[in-house]
Amino acid sequence: MAAADPLLASFAELKEKVRAARPKDDLAPLDRAFQFAVERHNGQFRASGEPYITHPLAVAHILAGMRLDLVSLQTGLLHDVIEDCGVTAEELRRNFGEEVAQCVDGVTKLGKLDFYNAEERQAESFRKMLLAMVHDIRVIIVKLADRLHNLRTLSYLDREHQERTAHETLEIFVPVAHRLGMGKIRSELENLAFRYSDPLAYEEILSAIESKRHYNEEFLHEIRGKVEAELRRESVPARVEGRVKSPYSVYQKLKRQRIGVEQVYDLLALRIVTDSVKNCYAALGIIHNEWRPVPGRIKDFIAIPRPNLYQSLHTSVIGPHGQPFEVQIRTEEMHRIAEEGIAAHWKYKEGKHGPAVDDQRIAWLRHLVEWQRDMADPGEFLSTLKVDLYPEEVYTFTPRGKVLALPRGATPIDFAYAIHSDVGHTCVGAKVNGRIVPLRYTLKNGDIVEILTQPGHLPSRDWLPLVKTARARNKIKHVINASERAKAIDLGQKLLEKEARRFGVSLGRISKATFESVAADYGYSKMEDLHAALGYGKLSARSVLQKAAPDQFQTPEDERPVEPAAPPAPGAAPPPRVEDGDYTLKVQGIDDLLIYRAKCCNPIRGEPIVGYVTRGKGVAVHSKNCPNVQSLLYEVERRIDVEWSRSTSEFFPVHLVVHTDDRPGMLNQLTSVLSDENLNIRSLEARVDHDAGADGAVIEMTVEVQDQKQLERLVGAMRHLSGVHDVERLLH
Ligand code: MN
Repeated sequence: MAAADPLLASFAELKEKVRAARPKDDLAPLDRAFQFAVERHNGQFRASGEPYITHPLAVAHILAGMRLDLVSLQTGLLHDVIEDCGVTAEELRRNFGEEVAQCVDGVTKLGKLDFYNAEERQAESFRKMLLAMVHDIRVIIVKLADRLHNLRTLSYLDREHQERTAHETLEIFVPVAHRLGMGKIRSELENLAFRYSDPLAYEEILSAIESKRHYNEEFLHEIRGKVEAELRRESVPARVEGRVKSPYSVYQKLKRQRIGVEQVYDLLALRIVTDSVKNCYAALGIIHNEWRPVPGRIKDFIAIPRPNLYQSLHTSVIGPHGQPFEVQIRTEEMHRIAEEGIAAHWKYKEGKHGPAVDDQRIAWLRHLVEWQRDMADPGEFLSTLKVDLYPEEVYTFTPRGKVLALPRGATPIDFAYAIHSDVGHTCVGAKVNGRIVPLRYTLKNGDIVEILTQPGHLPSRDWLPLVKTARARNKIKHVINASERAKAIDLGQKLLEKEARRFGVSLGRISKATFESVAADYGYSKMEDLHAALGYGKLSARSVLQKAAPDQFQTPEDERPVEPAAPPAPGAAPPPRVEDGDYTLKVQGIDDLLIYRAKCCNPIRGEPIVGYVTRGKGVAVHSKNCPNVQSLLYEVERRIDVEWSRSTSEFFPVHLVVHTDDRPGMLNQLTSVLSDENLNIRSLEARVDHDAGADGAVIEMTVEVQDQKQLERLVGAMRHLSGVHDVERLLH
């Protein structure tokens, strides 16, 4: 490139800007980034016909104007090389380090989000998502600078492209700049975007302003001189600027007040920038002393800053010839923050904020004002700055691009219920970004979630701990309650039939009317409710039978008090022992809602078991060896016979603790025993056993067995291994 090359001149100018703002920085990395971008963009051109490199260079100029650090500037120079030149993040990492690579990658990812197709009502979600997705604030700042330069050069693109860019800017980027308090870039973005989104309105407002230009200039000159003189007289040091409001702010006013452009009078504004808060109020007094304030238009954003930390005093007054105009009064510090927002904060010193700034969502902004006090180097400050604007939410997509905002920690089940309760109920799995994930997966910002459904599927109680949204929880509970009730009715019927046999009662001899009156005694209007109450364990079958058939009821032999003196009556026939047959409750492997394996002993198939009707939760199935059984079965009337169902081939998780020598190969030996039995290992963890000294180890595992016999075989085989001291089964 020749020395006169305008590109090189522009880059030299960029370096001058950086040198002025950060005299201590070594600019070599900037040279390398520029060189790299020039080479990679070689042969590419902008719509304007200029070499492509002019764009990243202009973006870097905008960033230098904000006095940003070298990482931001390098990111500005390199921001399009991944997207347009096929450079990988890895290559950037090698050449420019982790931070630059991550920032360029972040800008590239933001560029891929299709904000334009976002429905109107989703715009807020998109704005939040944009902020939430980025982990380094510099990514957003570079993106805003990129967008600004694209708007400045938008005239070279076709109408469709212009509309799209303008719309997206007003919907997404202007509010983001506003939230970050970056008033200067926001104003330029919105005025440029306005010009392309509504060219007619823009032209109309511009010509209305232009037609009064002479008058406006005269007027501003006059009041500016007057204000300056008054301030000088009161010894308030200040800079006074007069300006005509921007086309976009006039446009907003027209829309708000539903008036025509010829009716907008207060196009004019004065800004007073002074040295201290005290002098801000002094200046306000001087203005109000001179001109009559418009009631209700005085706003004190110094005492109560805006959520984005903007501070100023605003007032509107009626000037000479009845011409109203607005006055903003602020300190230099406040001015810089109003213009540069987050990019200025590391220079912010006062850090005084009114109590009204309580919004959790901007709490981080306040924090960083505090952090910076301890940090001498703004570069260090920026690089430690992580964006967590919306820590309580995650933003996810449907496969069609709709945004769903969910609480942090939400799972695909929450997502499914957020779409529709039927999708939630029938959800059997989920894909996130194209890959199958477990339903307990925690959703992350930007995840594209596809729910797999199966007609007829119903939610289970296991889902309750997995969901974060109230909506999902309520819907799941509703379904569980309904299906639990159906099961309770069924179980209640069975319990009644079974207990009838035990107490010698023939249900067939009890009339429907009798049962209904018994139900009514308990406060139930239907037999169904009585059955449900029995199934839930709210009532005992025994007392129902006693009421319904007092004449038939006999206390069974096994409950009669044992009288040692009385020998069994000779010749008396043993009480008829009816085979339980169909009335025995079958225990399936998987836990039924109302017949479930007790957590204290987790019985497995083949083990001797006993049922116990709990109060309100159905039948708990315990191992006969369970230490709880004796005390539970004290209430003999709640006991119920149960047996294993033969019909299923479920597996039962069993938790084993194996004490072994701590030597290599031990684990292999154990797992080969497991694989001989074809057992599935759910989890396995080995550690040194501190109780057994240095040469002992403990291996804990959860394996899935089919039945008691298999477990016994397994434990036997393990105990036979040399080096195994003991195998325990944990009962929980
Ligand atoms: Mn770009």
